[in-house]
Formats: sequence, structure tokens, C-alpha cells
Amino acid sequence: MKFNKALIALLICLGFLSCKEDTKKLDLEPIAEVIEPEPITEFGFVLDEYIVKRDTIKAGDSFGKILQRNNISYPKIYQIAEKAKDSFDIRKLQTGKPYTLLCAKDSLQTPRCFIYQPSLSEYVVVNFQDSIHAYTSRKPITYIEKTATGVIESSISETLQEKGLSPRLAFKLADEIYAWTIDFRRLQKGDRFKVIYTDKYINDTTYVGLHNIKAAYFEHNGEPFYAFEFETDSIKGIRDYFNEDAKNLRRAFLKAPVQFSRISSRYNLNRRIAYYGYKLRPHKGTDFAAPLGTPIMATANGTVTESTRRGGNGKYVKIRHNATYSTQYLHMKAQNVKKGQYVKQGDVIGWIGMTGNSGGPHVCYRFWKNDKQVDPLREKLPEAEPISASLKLKYLDYIAPIKTRLDVIPMDEELKDQIAQSSNDINLQTQ
Ligand SMILES: [Zn+2]
Repeated sequence: MKFNKALIALLICLGFLSCKEDTKKLDLEPIAEVIEPEPITEFGFVLDEYIVKRDTIKAGDSFGKILQRNNISYPKIYQIAEKAKDSFDIRKLQTGKPYTLLCAKDSLQTPRCFIYQPSLSEYVVVNFQDSIHAYTSRKPITYIEKTATGVIESSISETLQEKGLSPRLAFKLADEIYAWTIDFRRLQKGDRFKVIYTDKYINDTTYVGLHNIKAAYFEHNGEPFYAFEFETDSIKGIRDYFNEDAKNLRRAFLKAPVQFSRISSRYNLNRRIAYYGYKLRPHKGTDFAAPLGTPIMATANGTVTESTRRGGNGKYVKIRHNATYSTQYLHMKAQNVKKGQYVKQGDVIGWIGMTGNSGGPHVCYRFWKNDKQVDPLREKLPEAEPISASLKLKYLDYIAPIKTRLDVIPMDEELKDQIAQSSNDINLQTQ
């Protein structure tokens, strides 16, 4: 209640100031003249000058059929197609894509222009009002930089949804930027984030989607994780995310071979199992439980050294990543790779099953370092590609102002506190 009252006071105060500003302006400026409405243009044409017919390509439609339906004779269609063919292949019309006919404003309504839109931003104009010519053009694309903040209640997607933000943001944060550093299955209530990102628009109005995340800050368990996008190879256009110390956020290995899984049993050399009379049965793998048929991914690039079925392991795949590391994936329903095949990080190498000794559907993930099985969750895994020494200074210079910007974005609750604080101040002054 007190807060509301304070807010109203603040608004009234602001309102009063802006009214005063307006009256001042009125004194100085002449009375506004009648403003002609701007002509509506699209595809570089003033639409008012034509009868505009819009439709989509139907199954069985062709460039010829569409024009014929609209009273253009066959010889003329042939002539248009011939002249346009160098810039536009009329056979490439795709069912479902929109097209526009700009027609003469007379009783015949003869088409003057055919405009085809193969994508949201691209359009092809076949102009035959005077000389016949065709060209491809693009609607202007604009990128708008925005910021967002959030506090995790249960999951990141829920937090974003509540704020009306794109789910692509969650995907990018969880699967691209922080996939190697933060386990998004184990977010804590109160974890919070800030992002500076760019949305893509066509013609300033049509929202196409998230373009990229420029920088992010994620606080997990009270620990800060910064991420800044940086181009490390301008020729190949390679971009990556690095932290405030120029360390690559990617690791040579993914945190888990299965998405959205649950760890059902960790690596444990002292495991004792009741079934075996509490005898020591060390578990040298990490079990990730997931439904039957869930894809299993290679956690790093490498070459498949084994893809076979043997005893308690069931169907399994083993991958050699380099002289130091190999990984192994057991109890698959089926393998998706062959011995000798090169796989990349994230490639699907098989599917969750329960072949061999397995109480339920899971993958037993074994991590080999110098031919010994170790616990990957406790290993300090190698960084992907470190930033080159020559680029490091440039990088640090580049991120300094962005980091400052990120740091001063208030979190939601801080913002509320600030408004409450400033309204209290106003209250104090007016009393
Ligand atoms: Zn296991």
C-alpha cells in the first residue's frame, strides 16, 4: 500500500513536470499544419498506385498459370519468362510462399509486376510494366539490442516465459554458452542472470527472432559466471564465448552425454551393493538415466575405437579423443557409429537402452585418462581453444565497457528497491 501511494506520488510529480514542458513548447512553435499521410511503400513501389493482389503459391501453380489466370496472354508470359530467366528461375516457386501482383488501376486490372517472397526478408521482383526486368532484393533488416534479467524460481525457461522472453534465450544460455560450466539441471532457486542480446527485425516491425547474445552474467550458487561473445577468426567468422579473464567457456568435453538426464549413480570406488552381500563393487562410471531411445552424444571430438557388444557392458561405443583421453558409453539400445568413424562433439552415437547388466534404461559413461578410469565430474577438463596471446589484449579492451554495462543493469528486485527508495525520498521532501 505504502509503495503504491509512493509510486502515484512519483508519477504525479513526473506528469506535472512534463506538462510544464509542453506548454513552453506551444508558446514557441507555430500551430501544426495539416500533415499529409506518408504514401505506403513496399518492395520499392508506392502501393496506392496499383491494385494489390496477394496470395500464396498453391500446389500445381506455376508462374505461367498465375499470370494466365490474371489475363496475361501466353506469348507475353513466354516473353517475360525469357527476359527474366537470367535473374530469376521461374521454376523455383515453392508451394506456400507468398506472392504479390501489382495490377493496373483499370477495369482489366492487368498485372504489371509479380513479386515473389522465398523468405521473410528476401523478395524477387519481375517487373513488366514497361521493359521487362527481374531482380532480387531484401527488406531492410534491423537489429535491436536489448537487455533482460531474471531470477530462477524453478527453471530458466519458466523464468523467461513469465517475462515474455524468447525461449531461444534459454536454449542459447543453457546449450551453447554455459553448457560446459553450469549444469542447468541443477540450478538453485535464487540463481540469477543478466543478458545483453540482439533481436532481429525485418522492416523494423516483423520480429524474426533472437539474433545473438552479446554478453551474459549468470550467478549460480552465489558464484558469478561472465560470458562475452568474441570473434577469434574474422576470416572464417569464428565466434566464441569467453569469460572476464579471456578463458574459453567451452570445454573439450560436454558435461553429460545425454540432455535432460538425471545422474542415477556416480563414480564411486567404494561402492558396496546389498545384492552382492555388501562386497566392494567399485563403480568406475557415471550413470545417466533417461528414457529408452534417448540420443547419446559424443562428449568430445574423436575417433570411434570400439562399437560392439560384450558381456555386462552390453552394446557400447568407445571413442579416443587424443593421446590422453577416451570415453566409453555402455548399455546402448543400438549404436549409431562404426569403428574407425570420426565423430564430433554432440554427434548422436547411439540411443539409451538396457543391454548387458543394467537395472533400468541408462548410459554408463566411462571416462578414461591415460588408460585409467577417472571421475569426469571431478576432473578439471581441458579448455576448448584458448584465446591467442595476440588477441587477448584486444579482447580485454573490447569487453571492458560491455562488462561495466552488464554490471550496472539492475536486477528486478534491485530496481523495485530503487523505485521504492526514490519514492520514499519524494515523500520525505513533500511532507
Ligand atoms: Zn554405470
